[in-house]
Amino acid sequence: MKNGFKYYPLIGGGLEGAYKRPLTPARDSKGNAFKISTFCLETFAPGTYRLLAKHPTTINTYYYFDIRCPHCNCKLEPITQAKDERVLPMYACTVCGK
Ligand SMILES: [Zn+2]
Repeated sequence: MKNGFKYYPLIGGGLEGAYKRPLTPARDSKGNAFKISTFCLETFAPGTYRLLAKHPTTINTYYYFDIRCPHCNCKLEPITQAKDERVLPMYACTVCGK
């Protein structure tokens, strides 16, 4: 039974790969997303995205990420703290998340 989650692999660009651009189409599992990238966005509710890491990651790495909204390409803003070193902060789009 499929749930409503989607996963967007993130491809890095720019300085030290900090500019994170979501690839579409979304994958249906984080395992598939992690075949493409070491970071992905998990989304269930429109406009909110959980950053997931394939490998343990500290705030020193993701703090500098500039993650783009899969829908409007605006910068996503963090709205929660990381749960652990793989389940990283939740982000929201301030433009299309309204
Ligand atoms: Zn957006």
